Amino acid sequence: MGFKCILYALFKVMYIYSEKRYYMIIGSHVSFNKKDQLLGSVKEALGYGADTFMFYTGAPQNTVRVPINADLTKEAFIFMKENGINPNNVIVHAPYIVNLANESNFDFSIRFLREEIKRVELLGFDKIVLHPGSHVGVGVDKAISNIVYCLNEVLVDTPVKILLETMAGKGTEVGSNFLEIKRIIDGVSNKDNIGVCLDTCHISDAGYDLNDFSRVLTDFDNIIGLDRLLCIHVNDSKNEMGAHKDRHENIGFGHIGFDNLMSVVYSPKLKDVPMILETPYFESCPPYKFEIEMIKSKKFNANLYDDIVSYYK
Ligand code: FE
Ligand code: FE
Ligand code: ZN
Repeated sequence: MGFKCILYALFKVMYIYSEKRYYMIIGSHVSFNKKDQLLGSVKEALGYGADTFMFYTGAPQNTVRVPINADLTKEAFIFMKENGINPNNVIVHAPYIVNLANESNFDFSIRFLREEIKRVELLGFDKIVLHPGSHVGVGVDKAISNIVYCLNEVLVDTPVKILLETMAGKGTEVGSNFLEIKRIIDGVSNKDNIGVCLDTCHISDAGYDLNDFSRVLTDFDNIIGLDRLLCIHVNDSKNEMGAHKDRHENIGFGHIGFDNLMSVVYSPKLKDVPMILETPYFESCPPYKFEIEMIKSKKFNANLYDDIVSYYK
């Protein structure tokens, strides 16, 4: 009897401890410049008090890429280790000129994506976020088979996972609902190499109601499966639910709102999923240090813009 009681008490303590202790992994988009490369990205992330980060290996809107400098990469990894950034939580983002949905630019897109995946490997990471693409007239069904074709061309012999990002449904974007994402995943042969990145601004713009995030998550789980959810983009939206616009807003200043975003960020089911802010700069200054503070302290900061200006100017 006594032993059982002790055991029960022990479990109870462990349970409470694990409930309280859970933390999120939060960071933001950072730059990757020619000179400092990954080392610069890591330093920028640490300057924001972040646990992780996301970057493009060059400008998102072009294909100009510098060769990866091994020394800088090595130094960056030492720096990450010293400061508790786990490389498994670091995300690369593919440039948005890659469009796998329409065959007009297939050769370029496949070739460039292959090179990009090599760079991700060279940098020592294993996750790259990709926009499924825009069908530009060929229709969703054709677009999905195009995307599947390309992914199967690209996802060969690599440890790198492609994370398909949920889109706002602007123009002819594919992947603005979980079913389309699921149809793409179904076509990919190499299932170990495919995951999903959920963008809060995009899903709200696509018509998902973030007033009830647990329902959205259940939906996601039923259609795609939570085990595929490997990254969250945490953004507020300048537009109301269903607007299909894709314009990000600072945390708590948009139509999703602070409380709804907090229920995403503090969702216990997502405690191991890296969360990345892609919110807009204010007067050319990054908001991330202050937004991360807001999120970690669970307190909305109505003076965000003043704080940014007085810190950086
Ligand atoms: Fe994106
Ligand atoms: Fe995003
Ligand atoms: Zn977006």
